[in-house]
Amino acid sequence: MKVLVTGGAGYIGSITVEQLILAGDQVVVFDNLYQGHRSAVHPEATFVQGDLKDRTAIDAALSAHRPEAIMHFASHTLVGESMQKPFLYLADNLTNGLNLLQSALEHGVKRFLLSSTANLFDQPERMPIDETERIVPGSPYGESKYILERLLAWLDRTQGLRYACLRYFNACGASAERGEHHDPETHIIPLILQVALGQRQEFTIFGDDYPTPDGTCVRDYVHVIDLAEAHILALHALEKGSRTYNLGNGLGFSVRDVVEKARTVTGHPIPTRIVARRPGDPAVLVASSAKIRSELGWEPRYPDLQTILETAWQWHLSHPHGYTE
Ligand code: UDP
Repeated sequence: MKVLVTGGAGYIGSITVEQLILAGDQVVVFDNLYQGHRSAVHPEATFVQGDLKDRTAIDAALSAHRPEAIMHFASHTLVGESMQKPFLYLADNLTNGLNLLQSALEHGVKRFLLSSTANLFDQPERMPIDETERIVPGSPYGESKYILERLLAWLDRTQGLRYACLRYFNACGASAERGEHHDPETHIIPLILQVALGQRQEFTIFGDDYPTPDGTCVRDYVHVIDLAEAHILALHALEKGSRTYNLGNGLGFSVRDVVEKARTVTGHPIPTRIVARRPGDPAVLVASSAKIRSELGWEPRYPDLQTILETAWQWHLSHPHGYTE
């Protein structure tokens, strides 16, 4: 299939592109390189540098390349930033998504995958969290994804668009050639590994007074290649109808667990310091992925935290400055 991937130069997007190409699909990457990296784009993908703010640029890419499906990763994605700068999320994420959807429908593209988020579940009543859980976005970021999910439901009903919303819990890990590199970096695993590489003095833990066994936040860490495989399965299932899945391992690890495991994997002592909680962080987020496992046969290949950290560590060792030359 020919797939246009927005954000295909970013972390999850670039590894999904790699997996699509391995599966024999044709890929067009559409990315403004605002957060993505040109060298993260697989050499067999066609690259279009463009911004989703610009309807003309999207129209031109869809007319020129005529994809059969779109995977939409390009987005502002930081909970903390969205609490400080809500309009980046409640304006930009939404207008960019609307531009893409309007253009997609005008060009006859009726298959659409949306990167969604565990931040829809700020006050979960049951753990692990399945797709029937009440939606309470935890931040403007989560709200922006929820509004896009609702838009898709209406476009299915009124325009015959077939969509999948994939709500990632904590994406992590790396393939041999592609990994996690944000600037500035805010994510737990790359920050911890930068300490192990000697690029930072210490790792700061955001709060140790949460109602969890060791007082630090518990998250569900899911390998990025497993996420990529979920996208490919969901893409091929769209002909049977639209769908929404929570994607995680169903296993919770605390921030301290991740630090401890990283000490084992890297052999570095990784000093830590406790600081204040980060606004917008719920205490525990663990996914139930029973639905995608039973409906599509998804089975994470890297459920184990140690293996996840080993893949990330290998990538950081071979790319100590990420994608920066
Ligand atoms: N975290 C932390 N220190 C940091 C960065 C993250 O303690 O410097 C914690 C954060 O509070 C959360 C977990 O690590 O509980 C994962 O955070 P991350 O930003 O990686 O992903 P998110 O959960 O926001 O998607």
